[in-house]
Amino acid sequence: MDTKNPTSLATAAENTPMEKAPPIEVKEFENLYEMAVAQFERAADMTELNPSLRAILSQPKNELIVNFPVRMDSGETMMAKGYRIQHNNVLGCYKGGLRFSPLVHLDEVKALAAWMTWKCALTDLPFGGAKGGIQIDPTQLSPAELERVTRRFTHALGTNIGPDYDIPAPDMGTNAQTMVWMMDTYMNTIAYAAKNVSRHVVTGKTVASGGSVGRDEATGRGTIYNVASWATANGVELKDCTFAVQGYGNVGSFAARILQDEYGATLVAAQDHTGSIINKSGIDANDLAGHVAQQGGVGAYGKAEAQDPDEFWRTKCDILIPAALEWQITSENAPHVDCRVIAEGANGPTTMAADRILTENGIDIIPDILANAGGVIVSFFEWTQNRRGETWYLDEVRHKLKRRIADAYDRVAQTVKHYGCTPREATSVAALNRVAQAYDERGIFP
Ligand code: GLU
Repeated sequence: MDTKNPTSLATAAENTPMEKAPPIEVKEFENLYEMAVAQFERAADMTELNPSLRAILSQPKNELIVNFPVRMDSGETMMAKGYRIQHNNVLGCYKGGLRFSPLVHLDEVKALAAWMTWKCALTDLPFGGAKGGIQIDPTQLSPAELERVTRRFTHALGTNIGPDYDIPAPDMGTNAQTMVWMMDTYMNTIAYAAKNVSRHVVTGKTVASGGSVGRDEATGRGTIYNVASWATANGVELKDCTFAVQGYGNVGSFAARILQDEYGATLVAAQDHTGSIINKSGIDANDLAGHVAQQGGVGAYGKAEAQDPDEFWRTKCDILIPAALEWQITSENAPHVDCRVIAEGANGPTTMAADRILTENGIDIIPDILANAGGVIVSFFEWTQNRRGETWYLDEVRHKLKRRIADAYDRVAQTVKHYGCTPREATSVAALNRVAQAYDERGIFP
């Protein structure tokens, strides 16, 4: 594969008439899982998937919901609701993050679990897809309360997770410390884990407790490696580009700093739950990260102007990186988006109706399961290092990540060309083909 000259994701779709799969009527879904299923159905139509496989893959294999008590610092008891959805494991262990958010609900976690199946398949990892969540606001809990929530949830899951079965990782509202609490609880409560060989029950741990170097930056770095592939394919000089980022947490802040420091692009706008800021002459991505670390968000950053949150989506820039929540670019704001490419650091930030509008307006999209796959790719490296008793160097991790992203990007570009479809459809189709092949070869037991 020639990674220096990847095929453009966009031009093939423009040049090739959509013969094999005529456009579908696109509606604005109100439920994230319905949207995930509609995306899957579309890929199933395009690949003429057999009906039994279609039925198997349109729902998760296992849906776990646990309600458990947590002792609060005040001495009161809070009941928490936790989810773990295991979508599919035909390609390997269930794999996917654990999210803490007051907005967590069953259908959201189901959609995110399905996307993990496709993300792992697309990037050729030996994993299936899962996702977990606890419906709490982590900003309202003390560190001690967060620890008790995490440990109690891990205990409630018991052997429903495991280093060779289902491997959680950080997601929105959780971090490396959360994973270390999960690992420690699992190792202390599950009998066979006592042999100290089960650190890989979770990934995204701190380096001191068995994590991989480069895992913290991996999702943002993967997003930017995709942007670099896009730029090469389209003859774009990133040092001349401007960009805007929504969400300045782990994914958004690493993406912004890497795009600025390593590729020379200029950050002009940022938005998160605390506000929206803009400075056309440039915002220093590292300085902004320092502000966010101290103040908890981009709002009130002194070296840029505050702007109306809706205005953020009208920001004129070359690269737009949604790296916060799902469902952010909708049919309402999509017509005003004024950029050349959208790199989806978040999961599901663009609705299907918005997708259609952006494509018609000639905006390229690097879809979520490709653009944010860096996190789970380096999770795979961490899992492998733990299993082998190895620790890799940062340059090795980055090099391997870059290669895997470039390879997946290229596969998507080839699929765009082959099917004459959009990049979003191509990511689902390439992933589905891989999963379907495994089912075809293995058959259905008994
Ligand atoms: N939560 C991340 C995602 O959505 C990472 C998952 C993982 O590392 O397992 O891709």
